[in-house]
Amino acid sequence: HPPSTAFTVVIVGHVDHGKSTLLGRIYADTDSLPDGQLEKVRAICEQQGKAFEYAFLFDAFLEEQEQGITIDTARTFFSWENRQYIIIDAPGHKEFLKNMISGAARAEAAVLIIDAAEGVREQSRRHGYMLSLLGIRQIAVVVNKMDLVGYDEQVFNAIVEEYGAFLKGVGVSPQQFIPASARNGDNVVRRSDAMPWYRGSTVLESLGLFEKLPTGEDLPLRFPVQDVYKFDARRIIAGRLAAGVLRVGDTVVFSPSNKTAVVKTIEAFNVPHLPLAAVAGKSTGFTLDEQIFVERGEIASLKESAPEVSDRFRANLFWMGKNPLVRGRRYGLRLATCAVEMELETIHRIIDAASLDPVAVKDRVDLNDVAEVTIRTRKPIALDCYAECDVTGRFVVVDGYDVWGGGIVTEVLSDEQEAF
Ligand code: GDP
Repeated sequence: HPPSTAFTVVIVGHVDHGKSTLLGRIYADTDSLPDGQLEKVRAICEQQGKAFEYAFLFDAFLEEQEQGITIDTARTFFSWENRQYIIIDAPGHKEFLKNMISGAARAEAAVLIIDAAEGVREQSRRHGYMLSLLGIRQIAVVVNKMDLVGYDEQVFNAIVEEYGAFLKGVGVSPQQFIPASARNGDNVVRRSDAMPWYRGSTVLESLGLFEKLPTGEDLPLRFPVQDVYKFDARRIIAGRLAAGVLRVGDTVVFSPSNKTAVVKTIEAFNVPHLPLAAVAGKSTGFTLDEQIFVERGEIASLKESAPEVSDRFRANLFWMGKNPLVRGRRYGLRLATCAVEMELETIHRIIDAASLDPVAVKDRVDLNDVAEVTIRTRKPIALDCYAECDVTGRFVVVDGYDVWGGGIVTEVLSDEQEAF
C-alpha cells in the first residue's frame, strides 16, 4: 500500500479518448508492472486473435492490485523518482464527486484527456467544470492520439486555444497541454521524435511538476473541540488536531465565542514527560492557564490565522437524500465537531452528477444533483474554505440520524443580521 505521503492524481476524459491506454503506457514504460505481465497480456491477445492494447495491460494491472479497487473508484499506484503516485481512475463522475466531497478521496491534481482527432467534446467541458467545482487547481491536459492527425502542430494548437479558453471561463488554468500518443508512447514517458515542435514536458514529467498540497502540519492551527472533561479542578479540552501544530505557551482563540487563553499543558497517558507540542492528525487534550468556558463545536486556532465566523456561506453540495433538499425546511449541519441547524437560502446552479448535464435551476436539490448553493446556519459558526483547510471546510447535511448530503465551502459570506 502507498504511504500517506503519496501524491494523488485523478484521470478524467471522454470515454474512448484513451485513459486506460495512457495508464497502461505509463505503467509499462516506467517498469511498474510485475515481471512477465506485458508478455502475458500480449500472449493472451495473440491467442484470442486480437491486437495488443495497452488498455488491456492496464485492466490486468488493476486486477493485480486488487486491494486497490474500491466499489466506487479504481486506484492504482506506482512510484517514479522518489515519489509515490496514487492514480484514481474515475469510472463515473457521481462516485468521484461523492468521494471527493465526502472526504473519502482527495485528488491533488488531475489529468484531463482529449482525443486529438475528435477534439473537445461536451464531456471534456463538463470534466473541466467538475474539476473547478472541486477546487482542483493543478491540471495537465493531454491531447492524445496525435498519431491520428499526423502529429500536426496546428491541430494541437487549435485544441489548446479552444479548451484553454473554456477552462479559463470556469476558473481553471492548466499548467500544461501535452501532445501525445498513448498508443505509440509519444510524450508519455519518452519524449517524441515525431513532434519536434513541442518543447514542453512529457506526461510523466508533468506529474513530477505538480506540487504536493501542504500536509496538515504546514497549515494554520485548527483544533475542533470535541469534549471538555473536568478532572479535579482542571478542565481538559479534547479533540483531534485537524491542522497545524499546537504548542504549550500558545495563545489560542476559540471561535465563534472569541475567548482566548494560553495553553498550559498538552495531556498524554503513560508518558514520563508531557509533550510540548502536538501535530495535525493527533487526538489529544490540553489545559489552559485560566478557566474559560468553551464548548464542543468551537475551533481553537492562533489569533492571526483564525478561521472565519459567519452564519452564511456558499458551497458546492452533493445531494444523496431520497427526499429533495428544499427551501424553508430546517436540516442539521455538521462541520468538524459543530452541529447546528441550517436552511437552504439560494440555489445558484445545479448539475446532474452522473451525466454532468446542467439542470434547469429549480426550487429543490434532488437525489444525485450537485448544486452551488448558499446556506444559512441558525447561529454563526467557525469555518474555512475547503481550499484552505479541508477538515474545517467540509460539511454534511443530516436529517435525524441520516446523512443526506455533503458539501465543501467555497466562500464565506458576511453575517446576516436577522436570525431565522
Ligand atoms: P478510455 O475509454 O478512455 O479508457 O479509452 P481506451 O484507453 O480504452 O482507448 C480507446 C481506444 O482508443 C482503444 O482502441 C485504443 O487503442 C485507442 N487509443 C488510445 N490511445 C490512442 C492513441 O494514442 N492513438 C491511437 N491511434 N489510438 C489510441
